[in-house]
Amino acid sequence: MSIYTKDMQKYIASEEWEIRKNKLLDFNDKCLICGSRENLVAHHNTYEHFGNEQRGDLELVCKSCHKKIHNNRLVDMRRVLIVKTDFILKNNLDTPKNTRRKLENILEHQKFFNRNKFINNFVFIDLDELYKLDTKYQINLYLYLLTILRGKSGNIQISIEKLRDILARHSSVDNNNFVHRFVMKPAKEINNKENISIATNLNRQGKNIHIKVERKK
Ligand SMILES: [Zn+2]
Ligand SMILES: [Zn+2]
Repeated sequence: MSIYTKDMQKYIASEEWEIRKNKLLDFNDKCLICGSRENLVAHHNTYEHFGNEQRGDLELVCKSCHKKIHNNRLVDMRRVLIVKTDFILKNNLDTPKNTRRKLENILEHQKFFNRNKFINNFVFIDLDELYKLDTKYQINLYLYLLTILRGKSGNIQISIEKLRDILARHSSVDNNNFVHRFVMKPAKEINNKENISIATNLNRQGKNIHIKVERKK
């Protein structure tokens, strides 16, 4: 199914578009995200200049990555970080300020380095959403959930031990406090301000936790 309306489709089929697109994407020959050289399409970062696109308005991506962009409802790729899942899971992203700085460094690098190292195992992070979070617990939980649940919806069951290891390696609080402070509370705060909702459920033995993430309508 096309993401364009009929009028838009007409333009996309025109020679005018073909020329403009080729001119704007002239230095690229591979997918911005995975580096593939096949099935390439132009993605609009913005429709503001639709019909008279400017430099920066378009990105060259392969069909499969294009689908991912739109499935994640991320349009402006200039505001999106593409980060290896390992980075998120290995880095104990501490303060909100440091987290943002680290992630922004990656965004800087994205502009210069070839992104085809991200073939698998990458996660999109919408910076605008990230910036709305203001505690490190919210940020850690949010990034972790995005990493695990890449489509931003899904269900996981995870042991509290594992979660401790990822979200708060150095925390010495007991399991109950840990779950409250690092999972329940930030989840509730994110639910109040984000367009994702996170439902958490501790199992009876208190060893595992179910986390369900959904897009709010
Ligand atoms: Zn691709
Ligand atoms: Zn697109």
